[in-house]
Amino acid sequence: MKKTTLAIIVPCYNEELCITSTIERLLEVMQMLNAKGKISETSYIYFVDDGSTDKTWEIISRYNKQTHHVKGTRFVRNYGNQKALLAGLEGVRKIGCDCVVSIDADLQQDEMAIEKFIDEFHNGAQIVSGIRNDRKTDGFIKKITALMFYKTMNILGAKIPVNHSDYRLVSKKALDIMEQFDERSLFLRGFFNELGLKTAYVKFDVKQRFAGKSKFNFITLTKLALDGITSYSIRPLRLIAILGFLMGFFGLVVGIETVIEKIYFNNSPNGWATAVILLCIFGGLQIFCLGIIGEYVGQVFREVKGRPRYIKEEELE
Ligand code: UDP
Ligand code: MG
Repeated sequence: MKKTTLAIIVPCYNEELCITSTIERLLEVMQMLNAKGKISETSYIYFVDDGSTDKTWEIISRYNKQTHHVKGTRFVRNYGNQKALLAGLEGVRKIGCDCVVSIDADLQQDEMAIEKFIDEFHNGAQIVSGIRNDRKTDGFIKKITALMFYKTMNILGAKIPVNHSDYRLVSKKALDIMEQFDERSLFLRGFFNELGLKTAYVKFDVKQRFAGKSKFNFITLTKLALDGITSYSIRPLRLIAILGFLMGFFGLVVGIETVIEKIYFNNSPNGWATAVILLCIFGGLQIFCLGIIGEYVGQVFREVKGRPRYIKEEELE
């Protein structure tokens, strides 16, 4: 039987403090899997340097000269982790592999789970999703935003398992399908879950980052979440329409009531507070709804222009 060629993709942004140990560790894991006969000698790691301004790329290039197990590409600037993942998936599809695992450069995800991913792949799974055992290593803001995000996505019908992550295995077949989706902003977590291909789940432990700092803050996480939601589903727009209808109906009832009161009871107007409160609530609601619509207009704007998803500066094969 032909041995499986595994590609491991690692997005990295200013990871000079982590990258050397990460490369060494992943090479060890690959060697171990190769010795067990689970992957081929041609397996490799593919780094996507997301516009780092430190020594990250220098270190990757040095390893590339030493071993054919280290390959990579570099963006001209920082495009964000999702674009780096996408570039990784597209890059290894071109180079060739049977399956690909994505993992973070800080190895917060337990790298030993890769063996379980491969086992599931050999059992016929086309997608293997890594599920975190817990969120102990996340800060308060991360926990709250993640919870809100997954709740929202599931209301929108995404069926993403809680504690899902970008640590996953994807088969060559799934990569080929992905290539047919020409969207500028592809929400990978929702996408692979919904392809309908055979999917397996593997639980893994999350470790503390061993060096460097997290590259995400409240603003970048919110941006990621908004992009995820608006590129994935138009259900919020429908909800706005329903909300508008209900508000209209409510207005009609209040209007009729006011007219009846005026004609039959001729009450003097006392309800100033009510009027102001209603005005504020509905004013706020309208701006909020406009904001949601604006997000979608932005999404359409980006798709229509069809700019490249990312621009590469260099490729190491
Ligand atoms: N990353 C990236 N581009 C960015 C931000 C992050 O490629 O703009 C990479 C980063 O180098 C790491 C992964 O994405 O490999 C996850 O980032 P990080 O560990 O900072 O996030 P956290 O674990 O705190 O969610
Ligand atoms: Mg991390």
